[in-house]
Amino acid sequence: MKKSSLTEPGSGRRCTHCQVQKTPQWRAGPLGPKTLCNACGVRYKSGRLYPEYRPACSPTFSQEVHSNSHRKVLEMRRKKETGEVIEPGLASMISTC
Ligand SMILES: [Zn+2]
Repeated sequence: MKKSSLTEPGSGRRCTHCQVQKTPQWRAGPLGPKTLCNACGVRYKSGRLYPEYRPACSPTFSQEVHSNSHRKVLEMRRKKETGEVIEPGLASMISTC
């Protein structure tokens, strides 16, 4: 039996950001049109496609380094910039900015 779905696995197309093969719609990315999945494409368009962002359905998703929530992505990036461990005193200094 032959399946005629739009995005069959094995068709070769993958999201260049998260490697997802199945998406309701392909979107434009830095590498050209239809190179990003729907979720990544939406974020790319609004300038929020960070390396830490990854849809939970992505085969490369790792909970320790990725998140599908923009707020968590920002949190992770802030932690990276300020060092892995934030001391209580230091953290209060940063939050006053
Ligand atoms: Zn994607």
